[in-house]
Amino acid sequence: MELLREMIVTDGKVYDNNVLKVDSFLNHQIDASLMMKMAESFYEYFGKEKITKILTIEASGIAPAILVAHFFKVPMVFAKKSKPATLKNNDIYTAEVHSYTKNVTNTIVVSEKFINKEDNVLIIDDFLANGQATLGLMEIVEKAGANTVGVGILVEKSFQNGRKLLEQKNVNICSLCRIGSLENNEVKFNVADDEIKKG
Ligand code: 5GP
Repeated sequence: MELLREMIVTDGKVYDNNVLKVDSFLNHQIDASLMMKMAESFYEYFGKEKITKILTIEASGIAPAILVAHFFKVPMVFAKKSKPATLKNNDIYTAEVHSYTKNVTNTIVVSEKFINKEDNVLIIDDFLANGQATLGLMEIVEKAGANTVGVGILVEKSFQNGRKLLEQKNVNICSLCRIGSLENNEVKFNVADDEIKKG
């Protein structure tokens, strides 16, 4: 998605550990109009699928996921990173997710009330790096006996192994922007986007 790539070039910042900071428009301050266009792109890509739920993980996935849910006219569910006191252990689905950026492992939690075996789920997240967040969400979908129809990602870091792990699961992935490298603190997009660089 051209607009997203341009925003990354103008407003993104690359940190030493291969982390791209996009907090001025994607995951702290949010550009609502960009977010709406990205949600619409997912609707164009997955619109023909019979999707009944949008699933994401708190916190940064919530903004894109809720707009995608608006286009599909289905509920959005987000996995919590800690178990609410009001939920009992046998009322929840859980998965272990290691965070690449924070270097912590969380048990993510979804109430069993909100995903069931009839559901066709579209997973949405802001970044795909090593794939742990998405794989954790897929594990929850599987535990619920539901079906993961696809995965929609705003920014894929293609030099990490998340895409490879998801492809092994034969899941349909739509990434709006694919980064081939962040070496030397410079953004290089995949293939045809290589000419847009950020130092
Ligand atoms: P994964 O589980 O695929 O390794 O990482 C995905 C999660 O880590 C995303 O939900 C996102 O919050 C965070 N993440 C991974 N890489 C980056 C990055 O370069 N920048 C930011 N802002 N978040 C990232």
